Amino acid sequence: MRVIVVGAGIAGVACARRLADAGVDVVVLERDLVVGGRMASPRIGGRRVDTGAAYFTVRDEGFADVVSEWEAAGLARPWTAELAVLEGGSRSPERGPMRWAAPGGLASLVAALADGLDVRFGHDVRAAGPGHVDGERAHTVVLAMPDPQAERLVEPGTPAASVLAGRGWRPVITVVAGFAQREWPELAAAFVNGHPVLSLVADDGARRGDDAPVLVAHTTAGLATAHAADPAGVVPAVLDALRDLLGVRTSPEWVDVRHWPHAAPDGTREEPFHLGRDGVALAGDGWGSPRIETAWRSGTGLADAMIAGRST
Ligand SMILES: Cc1cc2nc3c(=O)[nH]c(=O)nc-3n(C[C@H](O)[C@H](O)[C@H](O)COP(=O)(O)OP(=O)(O)OC[C@H]3O[C@@H](n4cnc5c(N)ncnc54)[C@H](O)[C@@H]3O)c2cc1C
Repeated sequence: MRVIVVGAGIAGVACARRLADAGVDVVVLERDLVVGGRMASPRIGGRRVDTGAAYFTVRDEGFADVVSEWEAAGLARPWTAELAVLEGGSRSPERGPMRWAAPGGLASLVAALADGLDVRFGHDVRAAGPGHVDGERAHTVVLAMPDPQAERLVEPGTPAASVLAGRGWRPVITVVAGFAQREWPELAAAFVNGHPVLSLVADDGARRGDDAPVLVAHTTAGLATAHAADPAGVVPAVLDALRDLLGVRTSPEWVDVRHWPHAAPDGTREEPFHLGRDGVALAGDGWGSPRIETAWRSGTGLADAMIAGRST
C-alpha cells in the first residue's frame, strides 16, 4: 500500500516513521521548507529560538522510549518541573511534571524522527480525498494538521469533512525579544494568569541552555484575535507587559513576531485519530489534549491501526 501523509509536524512525521519502519511505502508532503510545524525553531538573532511550543512533557510509555533516544543523542534534556505563575502582581511557584527542552530547538527532535523519510518540502497541498492528494494516487491519505487546515483540503460531504466541521481553534502571537543582557529575575518560564496581553513567558536562553538573554512571550488568544491582520501591532503592549510583570526596563535590541492562527483547539476529543473506511485519515494534537506528546501518540497510533488494517 502507498500512503501519503500531508504535514511534517510531529504527528505526520511520527506516523510516517512508524509506517516506514514497518516497510510501508510512505511519502510526506509539507508546505513549509522545514519539518516541525508548531514545534518551530527558526534561527533568529544568530541562534535557534522556540517560537511555537514552549516545552514538552512525557507521560506515554511509547513516547518515553523515543524521548530516551533523543536524550541519549543529546537532542533533548529535562529542563524544569517548576514554572512560575504570575497573577495580580504576585509570583508563585507551580510544581508539575518535568518539562523537557531541546538544546537545538524543538524542531530538531522532529528532524531526528524524520531522518531517512521521504519528505517533500514546499508542497502546499490543495485537495485531498479518498485515494488521492493533488491528483497523486494513494491507498491511504493522512492529514496531520489542525482541523481548520485539514478542512480546507477535504471534499465536502466525506466522513472526514463531517468529523472536522465546526471546531474552534485559538490563535497565539509569539513575540521574541533579544536583549543586551539578562535583567529579569531568574525564571524558567511563567504562566501569566488573568492578564489581557500575555499567557506565557519563557526564558529561551535558560530553556535552550546557552543563557542567551532572549525572552519568548505568548499572547492571549483575545489579543491574537484582535491583531489577526496586524500581528506586529502587539509588540508595544507585550513590551509594556514584560516591564510590568518582570521589571524589564530596557528596550530589546531586536524583536521578532510569529502568528499562530491555529495554536490549540477548543476542548478535547476522546478518539486518538480518525481512520475512515474511505482511506482518509486525520491525526494531530486535535485528537486528545493539545500537546506534543498527544500529537506523537496520535500519529503513531494511526500508523499502528493502518498496519493492523483497522478503521474507525
Ligand atoms: C504558541 C504555541 C505554544 C505551544 N506550547 C506547547 C507546550 O508548551 N507544550 C506542548 O506540548 N505543546 C505546545 N503547543 C502545541 C504543540 O506545538 C502541538 O501540539 C504540536 O506541535 C502539534 O503537532 P501536529 O503535528 O499535530 O501539528 P503541526 O505542528 O501544526 O503540523 C502540521 C503541519 O502541516 C503542515 N501543513 C498544513 N497545511 C498543509 C498543506 N495544505 N500542505 C502541506 N502541508 C501543510 C504545516 O506546515 C505543519 O508543518 C504549543 C503550540 C503553540 C502554537
